Amino acid sequence: MLYMSNYSLPTVPSSLKVKLRLSTTEQLKASKTRQIIESKKLNTVCQEAACPNLAHCWSEGTATFMILGKQCTRRCGFCNIKTGRPSPLDPQEPENLAQAVFEMKLRHIVITSVDRDDLKDCGSTHFAQVIKRVREKNPLTRIEVLIPDFKARIENLERIWQAGPEIINHNIETVPSLYRSICPQSNYKNSLHVLELSKQAKFITKSGLILGLGESFEECQELISDLADSGVSILTIGQYLRPSSKHSPLKAYIPLNQFAALKEYAIDRGIGYVESGPLVRSSYHAKESFENYYNQIKLANK
Ligand code: SF4
Ligand code: SF4
Repeated sequence: MLYMSNYSLPTVPSSLKVKLRLSTTEQLKASKTRQIIESKKLNTVCQEAACPNLAHCWSEGTATFMILGKQCTRRCGFCNIKTGRPSPLDPQEPENLAQAVFEMKLRHIVITSVDRDDLKDCGSTHFAQVIKRVREKNPLTRIEVLIPDFKARIENLERIWQAGPEIINHNIETVPSLYRSICPQSNYKNSLHVLELSKQAKFITKSGLILGLGESFEECQELISDLADSGVSILTIGQYLRPSSKHSPLKAYIPLNQFAALKEYAIDRGIGYVESGPLVRSSYHAKESFENYYNQIKLANK
């Protein structure tokens, strides 16, 4: 069996080195993005998860908004989002986010959230309100939601479906054998179920996998097959970067040819569009991923 963790650790590969120098125009755009986000008291996963692409995405005027507060009720070993007692929901959040999308002139938006297992509806009512308000104020904006598993409860999922986003993303994150150690409060089968049900409800579905936590190549292939069987259309595969020594250990930097091999495997298994590479994150190039997927479908149906 080929173990990805057999690959060496010591030096950061050049593929993970991010261009930090921005042009004056890019700096201005990034600071405008920051100013809009801060003035509306919004949270972004770009900041909270210490995403390595922040400078790049913000300079292009894109960000991934994180709703339902800053504290997650779960504790996943790879994740930089804080765990703790969550704050009350902000009733202004739907309006503020809709206004930010309007000011940023976004044509494709990604909205995600922390997990709110403390709430009876897991935050699904508030999440749906945000989608609806963004839609009302920005009718031409495509809405991608990166949702928690909502405990895989159908009534929670139905609220999201009824709000009418275009794309439903739910990250599978890692292989089943690592769930207990990496994301102990989550459940692999629940996550697949969320994707399967959303597909049956006629949504375009998307998922994401992070590598470098100790998974084997074969396990990744099995996971990809499960996603394909669940009808997932878009897949992102990226490299885990350990946010601090308190987080799950980084077991390996995955070589580029392994990212390419998994991408090829996913496409062979019928997943429509795959972004696979060290810096890929679930919302990285989200607009382009969707448009590439959509163009492929159009071409195939000609
Ligand atoms: S990849 Fe996603 S989370 Fe990271 S900076 Fe870009 S939009 Fe934000
Ligand atoms: S459930 Fe999501 S936001 Fe919460 S700790 Fe896990 S990965 Fe992070």
